[in-house]
Amino acid sequence: MGIRLCEEARPWLSRAMGKSHGDASRMIFKAKSAARLLKLIGQEVDSKVFDHIHLAAAFSRLAKLGQTRQLMMTDVGSLVWARMVARLHSMLREDTLGARAAVNIFWAHGKLHQELEALQRAVPEMLTALGATAALIADKVEEMTPQELSISLWAAARLQDTAPEVNTAVPAIAACILHQAGDMTGQDLSNSLWAVAKLQDTVPTVLVTMQALVTCIPSKISGMQPEGLRMSLWAAAELGEDGLANHLKRELAEADVEAGKVEVDAKALTAKEKRDENASLLTNLKSCEKVVLGVGVFFALAQGVSTPAIAMFTADSITTLTGVKDGDEAHMLDDMVPTLIKIGVLAAIQFLFAFGWQTCLAWSAAKQALRWHRSFLEVLFCLDVSWYDEHEPAGVAARLETDIANVYMLFGGMMLAMWNDIACISGLVSAMACVFPANQVIVVGGGLAGMSAANTVIELGGRSLLLDKSSFCGGNSTKATSGINGAGTKTQKGKSIPDNAEIFIADTLKGGAKKPELAKVLCANSAADVDWLVDKFDLDLSLVARLGGHSQPRTHRGKERFPGMTITYALIQMLEKVAEKTNRARIITKAEVFKLLQNGSAVVGCEYKKAGKVVKEFGPMVLASGGFGADFGADSLLATYRPDLLHLPTTNGEHCTGDAIKMGEAIGAATIDLEWVQVHPTGLVKPDDPDAKVKFLAAEALRGVGGIVLDANGDRFCNELGRRDYVTGEMWKNKPPFRLCLNKAAADEIIWHAKHYTGRGVMKFYPTGEDLAKDMGVPLQKLVDAHQKHFEAAKKQEKDPDGGPFPAYPSGKTWDEPSGKTGSGKKFFHNIIDGSKVSTEPFYVAIITPVIHYCMGGLECTVDAECIDKKTGKPIPGLYVAGEAAGGIHGNNRLGGNSLLDCVVFGRVAGKAACNFTFGAGEKFKPCPVPKELKELSK
Ligand SMILES: Cc1cc2nc3c(=O)[nH]c(=O)nc-3n(C[C@H](O)[C@H](O)[C@H](O)COP(=O)(O)OP(=O)(O)OC[C@H]3O[C@@H](n4cnc5c(N)ncnc54)[C@H](O)[C@@H]3O)c2cc1C
Repeated sequence: MGIRLCEEARPWLSRAMGKSHGDASRMIFKAKSAARLLKLIGQEVDSKVFDHIHLAAAFSRLAKLGQTRQLMMTDVGSLVWARMVARLHSMLREDTLGARAAVNIFWAHGKLHQELEALQRAVPEMLTALGATAALIADKVEEMTPQELSISLWAAARLQDTAPEVNTAVPAIAACILHQAGDMTGQDLSNSLWAVAKLQDTVPTVLVTMQALVTCIPSKISGMQPEGLRMSLWAAAELGEDGLANHLKRELAEADVEAGKVEVDAKALTAKEKRDENASLLTNLKSCEKVVLGVGVFFALAQGVSTPAIAMFTADSITTLTGVKDGDEAHMLDDMVPTLIKIGVLAAIQFLFAFGWQTCLAWSAAKQALRWHRSFLEVLFCLDVSWYDEHEPAGVAARLETDIANVYMLFGGMMLAMWNDIACISGLVSAMACVFPANQVIVVGGGLAGMSAANTVIELGGRSLLLDKSSFCGGNSTKATSGINGAGTKTQKGKSIPDNAEIFIADTLKGGAKKPELAKVLCANSAADVDWLVDKFDLDLSLVARLGGHSQPRTHRGKERFPGMTITYALIQMLEKVAEKTNRARIITKAEVFKLLQNGSAVVGCEYKKAGKVVKEFGPMVLASGGFGADFGADSLLATYRPDLLHLPTTNGEHCTGDAIKMGEAIGAATIDLEWVQVHPTGLVKPDDPDAKVKFLAAEALRGVGGIVLDANGDRFCNELGRRDYVTGEMWKNKPPFRLCLNKAAADEIIWHAKHYTGRGVMKFYPTGEDLAKDMGVPLQKLVDAHQKHFEAAKKQEKDPDGGPFPAYPSGKTWDEPSGKTGSGKKFFHNIIDGSKVSTEPFYVAIITPVIHYCMGGLECTVDAECIDKKTGKPIPGLYVAGEAAGGIHGNNRLGGNSLLDCVVFGRVAGKAACNFTFGAGEKFKPCPVPKELKELSK
């Protein structure tokens, strides 16, 4: 006993490690219940011996337990998940995860997709971890086996709704599958084809693999399981591959005939998928419960069948007994005993049968009731409605959520009305509070602008309700790759960069802002607001770069690769945590705001649609729903203001339909600069899908590190570091296709991006300049000359910075002829090579095209972000705007990095102004009197 206790006390993993590493993984795989496994992992997850293999095994086992319904809601709420996710983050950071473990973790999340929403609510970092795992997978696709590629694509398809970040891995996986489809098994092929059908709308680039998969499947069809055949058939029907669908149908019919089943068609399969998703009560039961129920049914049948026989026998026996003659009383007992014994035995059997089936039924019912009861209680206490999604047809969860919200609203409304009445009677009321009873600020849009506003409201002691029409917050803000500007920040001071608000204002005003007072707020608040991000959200913004149009290095980013995503997620996570821990914040996604509600001229709330229902919310409104760069319809804002751009592709997400502008216009709000839509020169063209409407954007940094732009003839024609409108303008004058070429030194400086774009099929690696010239169809000498002239200009510039013959951008003179001729000559050169190196130099090259990128125009506002009434020119009470939905700040050409800044600065200005409006004079109506630090509230 003593020895056993001692053994128990030793951590299990170290014990297993004493045997072998594999034993430890096996222990994880053998865990019988999720609760037990989570407990074991909880003991070890932070220890040194717990490595990527254990982590992948742990996620996989939990996923398997989830599949067999052994993962309960209480398990989902376990704190161990957060520690596992933290461990995953640290492995990703330290680069110790490896491709195989990443794929297994991806797979596990795919299997756990039903629980994922609840898990993400409990551990918001899970989303970023999944995004980073996806990035790792995209990075390592070339090391992956065909099976791993297929699994990864399958998992991405399962996760696309709950964790759209995983989509970033899809293009790279698809590009690799294209070459490895021939080596895939039937199962891999069917998984991949199914994933392609599921992902085709969200990541259309995945369709590149379709032909390869469709071609390979017929040769592997005989090795496919019926389930694989069904998946492929469904996918082929969805993808319009009728030939393959018919082939699969025949194969499936044969397989089904063999298995004694009827013919199945694609429609029936879709219906089956649906049925499977809403798994019936019976399939939810564990196998032991099924056995008990089976035994119960047997007992019930036995009782049913035996009852008539027993009744007849009993009747017979009674006749026998009543037939005993008088006078035979002495023998009566002897005659009766055997009959009585038989009746007794039969009664006992009957009793046992009845007892048997009733016990079985009661046991199973109790099990189910316990399961439901527990889930129900959890639902009630946590307001977590995902359970209904699992057990009821779609829609119930959303209805329940809305109903709960309505109950809250009703009570909230009643309380506020009462408070207002009391306040009115007691003469406490300011003019503002009479407008409407508002104890919250409503923010429309969960991009960086909306998140900055909502966090600011909380910081100031208000309450915020954030509504976003997408499944997840983030918007375009998560796509930003260059960084955020700031002049006079702590980071700049640490690096002795001589920048300040005045220099920054001068640079920004070159865009021709119609409202320079807004540009001044943007630049003057930049240092404090960038520092706010660093101080309040622990963001790393320690790197600064100088982008085109800026006269100082002031675009901040951290070591992470996607600054927009990192910054926006930090703010989202903070808001989510505050929403979880306090009543100061609420976030509702899939909520499309479509109408502003007014009381007189003031805006007092909005109507939004969620799950087919219209809901009203009351409070001042901050509109932060982004721009209209994807509003392509016939009566869209682009069609109205820039019909000439309708044919261009875009970098914007499909949510960018200018909803704020449309809602504002509907109540008479003024707009400004709507015709100023920024076209970016470096949209990346995918050679095998050149007409795709949504394009990736090449990060500005690609030009910054020394990328040069060549036309179809191999000539340079512009200053690559010029403003976006200038480079685009020069592209229109020259011959496409245009190529952005990075020599080895330039590519090495930004190698992650170069590889990332190459993996996505939007950039190509050429081992030598000779290969590049051949592919471009120009003589090698053309490229040699272009590089040699560029090199010479750079050297002259070095010797004589201000003596060149051509005007330079932003000021001074340049020696660079191709760009100098345009009047905006190149002054800064980086990573140059002379012509003699070109023939043997490796290049990373992308074909680029102009793309709709950013809307400078939007709702017109004051320096306090108040929307302006078109008729009166005065602020509309209760209506504020921030981010890309606002106009007049950037002029006709926004500088790189100024938009994220605009989101933070005006998000905060709008949040503050809306709070002041709600609080009333002397902050009498401040709902949360003691402002607390965000970090404190989120704990
Ligand atoms: C590819 C790309 C790269 C970029 N790179 C940079 C960069 O490096 N630096 C920089 O400064 N800027 C960059 N920008 C621009 C910048 O990212 C955006 O302009 C900025 O993030 C917009 O933020 P936002 O909060 O205003 O809108 P978004 O981030 O787009 O968020 C808007 C949100 O509102 C929601 N929404 C929309 N309509 C409704 C409605 N009716 N009801 C409820 N919710 C609604 C959407 O679902 C979305 O979540 C880039 C843009 C793109 C597309």
